[in-house]
Amino acid sequence: MQTEFLIIGQGISGTWLSYYLQNEGKSFIVIDDNNNKSPSRISAGIINPVTGRRHVTVWMADKIIPFALKAYNQLGYELGITAISQKNIIDFFPSPQMRLSFLQRIEENDMYVHHYPEQDHFKHLFNYDFGCGEIQPAYTVHLETLLPAWRQRLREQQVLLEIEFEIEKLQINKDNIQYNDIIAEKIIFCDGNSSAAHPWFKQLPFAPNKGEILLVEIPDLPNHHVYKKGMMLAPLATTGLWWLGSNYGWNFDTADPTTEFRERTVQLLKEWLKIPFTITEHLSGIRPATLERRPFVGIHPLHSTIGILNGMGTKGCSLSPFFAKQLTEHFCKNSPIFPETDINRFSKIIARNSK
Ligand SMILES: Cc1cc2nc3c(=O)[nH]c(=O)nc-3n(C[C@H](O)[C@H](O)[C@H](O)COP(=O)(O)OP(=O)(O)OC[C@H]3O[C@@H](n4cnc5c(N)ncnc54)[C@H](O)[C@@H]3O)c2cc1C
Repeated sequence: MQTEFLIIGQGISGTWLSYYLQNEGKSFIVIDDNNNKSPSRISAGIINPVTGRRHVTVWMADKIIPFALKAYNQLGYELGITAISQKNIIDFFPSPQMRLSFLQRIEENDMYVHHYPEQDHFKHLFNYDFGCGEIQPAYTVHLETLLPAWRQRLREQQVLLEIEFEIEKLQINKDNIQYNDIIAEKIIFCDGNSSAAHPWFKQLPFAPNKGEILLVEIPDLPNHHVYKKGMMLAPLATTGLWWLGSNYGWNFDTADPTTEFRERTVQLLKEWLKIPFTITEHLSGIRPATLERRPFVGIHPLHSTIGILNGMGTKGCSLSPFFAKQLTEHFCKNSPIFPETDINRFSKIIARNSK
């Protein structure tokens, strides 16, 4: 079987890369093992334009977020689903200091950080002592609807192999690659943390980061917003179902959910929420994060047949459409990849240690 691209992974990165390649009329095959613990399958899909305790605007927010909004709406339209919704974040200040920090950002005219006029509006739903503000525009991507819908499209087009990719079976040639009976001009790794073990990319500064979440039924909570107080409480596509998380673990002994997280998070929710809730699931996943918090995009410096779209860290939903498009244009029009994300910024390290 001959094809132009073999894509490994149909998380959010592989989804966008296959979408844009298809738009350019390129042929491809996607291999994905449908791991239901992959970050793309347990993420809340929140696109939050600010980050950290100081509510700093996220990297390239002004470019990447409007791009993502348009892209998800277009793909959702083509698939006949709602792929993205605007869900501004109500930020309940956990301390007077956090309140001050938020107000300072408003004074600095930050475009994403705003007063919430009716400070008591949520008092029948939540306990909060230091007021609240609004982060907007913010969005949730409906990954639980979008990923299966795109997968079904790939199935119908007979370009999806639902199997585990085994690196030992991959043969790299000068002008193409071979995997079982597939011969492709290029193989592109969109396989999240799996890439960190591949011979060609293991030298990249991946920094896997564990996150745990709870799925919670809260039938009486209005789903117009994402709510935040330390953690995020985000509405899912199923009415009444909420996503609560997450933590950020750089050092972890197990990839599995822990009792410690569950107990601490349930306690937090009991203190925060005034209405009944039921925990339905506890999940964990490992984010494909990078040491310098920038994605890995591009072609291997020694092997023009091997590429990567990865390292999306905590922001796969906003970053992946933009960089999948950029990588596609690089293939089709030879246009440049942003130097900050191009894996060629590590060309010496990769070249020295790759086989
Ligand atoms: C708890 C948690 C919460 C998060 N919340 C958010 C959020 O709110 N907003 C946001 O933007 N981001 C969030 N993220 C981060 C986001 O999930 C990631 O940035 C994003 O999903 C990465 O997507 P990806 O497609 O690059 O990789 P992945 O999601 O890892 O996808 C890789 C795909 O490749 C497949 N695969 C891997 N190895 C193989 C193999 N050998 N054979 C076959 N298939 C293989 C996997 O099954 C998977 O489908 C969160 C992550 C976690 C863990």
